[in-house]
Amino acid sequence: KDFRNNVKPNWCPGCGDFSVQAAIQRASANIGLEPEQLAIVSGIGCSGRISGYINAYGFHSIHGRSLPIAQGLKMANRDLAVIASGGDGDGFAIGMGHTVHAIRRNINITYIVMDNQIYGLTKGQTSPRSAEGFKTKSTPQGSIESALSPLEMALAAGATFVAQSFSSNLKQLTTLIEEGMKHEGFSLINVFSPCVTFNKINTYDWFKENIIDLEETPEYDPSNRVAAMTKIMETNSMLTGLIYQDKSRRSYENLVHGFKEQPLATQDIKITSEEFDKLVAEFK
Ligand code: SF4
Repeated sequence: KDFRNNVKPNWCPGCGDFSVQAAIQRASANIGLEPEQLAIVSGIGCSGRISGYINAYGFHSIHGRSLPIAQGLKMANRDLAVIASGGDGDGFAIGMGHTVHAIRRNINITYIVMDNQIYGLTKGQTSPRSAEGFKTKSTPQGSIESALSPLEMALAAGATFVAQSFSSNLKQLTTLIEEGMKHEGFSLINVFSPCVTFNKINTYDWFKENIIDLEETPEYDPSNRVAAMTKIMETNSMLTGLIYQDKSRRSYENLVHGFKEQPLATQDIKITSEEFDKLVAEFK
């Protein structure tokens, strides 16, 4: 079970995304997957390259659209473990509509967001996760918008698994990805993944000073949704660990009539070429 391939990542040295790649590879091996049982769909951004750096099925898709493709994959073959991934710009700006609906749909995929609070690939613009006052070439006077909280958004949208971690904490990140992949339903794992080249504010040291880890609160109960929202707001979304999990809800693909018995991809679909042409003609 080796999820490494021979492609050398072209991320900048020190980029937080290296740890996310390593954590996905370790978590997949730890839960006993074979490379052909895993698919990784990514969006556009530096983080989007990750689908090419892991020995599994990979689909480097388009900006903000990793989730529709990942959901289609899961619906076609629910035996595949499916990970969607991208950056905070990809998932929380252009892709936000998909993010909210994938969450409330509770389809069984793991969504890993590499949150560096800036647009890295396009050389440093303010993103939905950039703090108010954040100065970049797109907001030279400082951003006048407030930063989005993905954790609050996910809980409000009805998420059944919400976690947050940090690239420097590979052990925690690997465990959370494992838990997310084992969870029946949609799992959101937001990862503080520093952009060492363009974000000189939210650095590794800044995160180390500001993160509040749930390991320091052993009595915390991640099954309590109200407590989770309160804790997120109290900590200004700087919380790391498993923040919320609802194990009672069934996942979407297990509820859709006709999809339960056998994955669509392995069903014997009998259709003649005339029937197929007729079907296609209906959509023209
Ligand atoms: Fe990582 Fe930033 Fe370099 Fe992109 S520009 S590879 S996000 S460090």
